Amino acid sequence: MARVYREGDIGNEIAQKRIAVLGFGSQGHAHALNLRDSGCEVTVGLYRGSASWPKAEEAGLRVAEIPETVRWAEVVMMLLPDERQPPVFREQVAPNLAEGNLMLFAHGFNVHFNQVSVPPEVDLGLVAPKGPGHVLRSLYEEGKGMPALFAVGRDATGQARDLVLSYAKGIGCARAGVLETTFAEETETDLFGEQAVLCGGLSALLKAGFETLVEAGYQPELAYYECVNELKLIVDLIYEGGLARMRYSVSNTAEYGDYTAGPKVIDEGVRERMREILADIQSGRFAKEWVLENQAGGSSFLAMRRREAEHMVEKVGAELRALAAEGAQSPAGSPAGGES
Ligand code: NDP
Ligand code: MG
Ligand code: MG
Repeated sequence: MARVYREGDIGNEIAQKRIAVLGFGSQGHAHALNLRDSGCEVTVGLYRGSASWPKAEEAGLRVAEIPETVRWAEVVMMLLPDERQPPVFREQVAPNLAEGNLMLFAHGFNVHFNQVSVPPEVDLGLVAPKGPGHVLRSLYEEGKGMPALFAVGRDATGQARDLVLSYAKGIGCARAGVLETTFAEETETDLFGEQAVLCGGLSALLKAGFETLVEAGYQPELAYYECVNELKLIVDLIYEGGLARMRYSVSNTAEYGDYTAGPKVIDEGVRERMREILADIQSGRFAKEWVLENQAGGSSFLAMRRREAEHMVEKVGAELRALAAEGAQSPAGSPAGGES
């Protein structure tokens, strides 16, 4: 089994360093607040006029513009959206890094696909929490942690490895477990996971199930409850105790259908296309497409976002969530349900 680092395996080197967290979005707010609550000295780096600036100040953090923040810091974590990082890195970060600094990323895309180039006298590392930033923060507040990957891209000082691990501990990830990887492995598996399974595969599976029922004449609301809403309950069981825990909790009928129908849905054709998706990631073809898409102003990306938002599954879901929210506000046990 791969070595999983826990809190006891890791030192507190990070608490001795001045840390710049660039960006205050999903990951940025979680890193900055978790590090601060772990006793670290943090400044958030943003641009004047950023909507995030007042949010970071309200959270009690010091905020400054990126060049100034990088000059002050010894450890810099880049948490801007991946597609915004290259010009900001080139113009505002790289010129202000000093020999012996540690430059960190939370996803390897721009380093692995050569969209940024970190100066040779600067250490390079990766700390990639395996989950959304808001969950990274809430787990930390509950005294728990989110698992993370770490990698050392360059260790010019000889201290990078300990410091990268210590950063992962500072954001709470060593409470769950931290696993060593490389920029290549993290980048390729992260892109594959989100495309084939977590985001792309799952959204397409949910929509296909929903549409199949609706096309067959069943009520859309019922199709939504069955194919989308119930997923959370199923995933919670898998998260708790694997597929076995889910299969223990569902009926024997559901379990039997799982074994017989699952392989018909995800058949060899799907596996073959998953291998093609992986090959496009490994060859850099996906990266090139995404970089060019952004250079073109994201016109296809924004069109797809708009079209997907208008899908019937989203409209039905929004209506049902609004009803559930109304229900939750009405007094418990009230026979009238609080409705007029
Ligand atoms: P977000 O989109 O949530 O955060 C963007 C932040 O960057 C905002 O504070 C935004 O400010 C700021 N920003 C945008 N452009 C600039 C700029 N030109 N100069 C300065 N600040 C700017 O990003 P994510 O947290 O999703 O992603 C950050 C990194 O973390 C990425 O590398 C991503 O791959 C990685 N990651 C993300 C995960 C996630 O949970 N989302 C999971 C694991 C890794 P403003 O408010 O002004 O827009
Ligand atoms: Mg990702
Ligand atoms: Mg059922």
